[in-house]
Amino acid sequence: MMNLIFIGPPGAGKGTQAKLVEDRLSIIQISTGDILRAAVAKGSDLGKKAKEYMDAGDLVPDSVVIGIIAERIKEPDCEKGFILDGFPRTMEQARALDEILSAEGLDIHHVVEFVVPEDELVKRLLGRAEQEGRADDNIDSIKNRLKVFNEKTMPVTGYYKDTNKLRKIDGTGTVAEISSRVQAVLGH
Ligand code: AMP
Repeated sequence: MMNLIFIGPPGAGKGTQAKLVEDRLSIIQISTGDILRAAVAKGSDLGKKAKEYMDAGDLVPDSVVIGIIAERIKEPDCEKGFILDGFPRTMEQARALDEILSAEGLDIHHVVEFVVPEDELVKRLLGRAEQEGRADDNIDSIKNRLKVFNEKTMPVTGYYKDTNKLRKIDGTGTVAEISSRVQAVLGH
């Protein structure tokens, strides 16, 4: 069993790499962004709560995403392990995750941080806007998401550094190059 956290700014390639690890190691990708987007598309209560924050590039309230994760990691498909893709994004989420995991007798093995320069991120996100048409891939929302990452999520990387779980990798280059860096830190 291997439980992972993928952390990094928007556009860093966390989702792409999480899918590759999911296929290779048969551990499940849990993307809070995907779960929230699906809820918005369905028009559920959760989606109604989340939509405005997401469109503006703000974080959805901690209590909402913490509740999602607390339920999700208890599902049977998480038994072999999971990759948290885009969670935790605040210190409050990181502390809540510790409590959820210890209540379940679980632990995180590696926190993989994807490091990409900001100008490259903006370029990638604007490219994705053209291809996928995500509502939050416009320049104002992109700028805000980068600011939110620096203010709220960077401290979370410091938190995991202190527990010796943080593995920083260069998130530039081809998908295959980045994937081999991920494999190197995971040991397979
Ligand atoms: P992502 O697909 O990970 O870039 O997430 C898209 C959007 O969903 C973010 O900009 C937030 O509005 C929201 N979101 C995803 N994960 C979280 C989280 N862990 N905490 C708060 N908001 C989140």
